[in-house]
Amino acid sequence: MEKQIVLLPGDGIGSEVIQSARQVLDAITERFNHTFTYHTHDIGGVAIDQQGTPLPQDTVRACEQADAVLLGAVGGPKWDNNPSHLRPEKGLLGIRKSLGLFANLRPIKGFPQLLHSSPLKHEVVDGSDLLIVRELTGGLYFGKPSERSHDGNSVVDTLAYERHEIERIVDNAFKSAQLRRKHLTSVDKANVLESSKLWREVVEEKKADYPDVTVEHQLVDAAAMKLITAPTDFDVIVTENMFGDILSDEASVLTGSLGMLPSASLRDDGVGLYEPVHGSAPDIAGKGVANPLAMILSTAMMLRHSFHLEKEANIVEEAVQQVLQDGYHTGDLDVKNGQLVGTKEMTRRVLEHV
Ligand code: ATP
Ligand code: MG
Repeated sequence: MEKQIVLLPGDGIGSEVIQSARQVLDAITERFNHTFTYHTHDIGGVAIDQQGTPLPQDTVRACEQADAVLLGAVGGPKWDNNPSHLRPEKGLLGIRKSLGLFANLRPIKGFPQLLHSSPLKHEVVDGSDLLIVRELTGGLYFGKPSERSHDGNSVVDTLAYERHEIERIVDNAFKSAQLRRKHLTSVDKANVLESSKLWREVVEEKKADYPDVTVEHQLVDAAAMKLITAPTDFDVIVTENMFGDILSDEASVLTGSLGMLPSASLRDDGVGLYEPVHGSAPDIAGKGVANPLAMILSTAMMLRHSFHLEKEANIVEEAVQQVLQDGYHTGDLDVKNGQLVGTKEMTRRVLEHV
């Protein structure tokens, strides 16, 4: 298989972990005889420093021509006082927008070796393995009007969705469920919100196209509670933009470490941007101690969702699991009796299993 991949290392530990991702992909291409071609471009703070903008035109053009994009991280204290158009985060929001990525996928998996890192009881989080599919381009964050009155005492935000926007994210979630345990929980507030009523209607209509997937509806308040009392009840959750924003941060505490969480932002032709959930971690940047596993797991998502290489994706995920099982861990992971390693050594251990 031949694919064009754009690498956007970005800032801080982004460039360190993206090297790990590249090495893992090299091992996969060698083993399976794929040809992946890489194009590296600037984004975020480095792009501001080098080219005076967080999102240079050549970066946008390269991403538009790519089959998939891997992003490290953007941001850091160096640019915190910049005017808003020169903020590194603008680069990330901009690239998501110009690629039209409407589906944000965040898998959350509780690795047995990392149960100590979770603030929740072991018996509750043990075995949790869920995927949150969040709508990324509509809803309350983008609805117009969103404004304040002249006297400053009255405000309005708008939660707007078009049927087609709901259909495409729901389709994506059903397809994701088919690759997993085939259970979909649609989260809404249909007892109150008109947008949620349409959301629920669409899910009910789409059900017929995916007869192998079981469907359940939950109100967002109940879902928020169940996520921490019974996380193992979930397989795939699909929800609108703001609910997804809140629930995915809530769910991320199940695993106990930011350094383990991958994410994907997709559109329906399979093009996607893959990045770790964590940021640029300026406090540890350049020290060679960053956990590369979130970035490596993001490449597994790329293999699965953009290239449909399910077997290769599984191999990468199993390699990560194996390394944890062997007791190797970076400083961010709370592991008893294991061996503490840095970014390069951790990556080497993963490569051994790929
Ligand atoms: P951003 O605004 O870019 O999301 P942030 O300050 O919210 O940044 P991170 O940059 O992710 O969050 O860092 C939060 C904390 O987690 C820091 O102490 C950082 O060192 C740690 N951390 C984040 N990612 C990793 C990683 N891959 N390996 C080790 N530690 C990490
Ligand atoms: Mg953050």
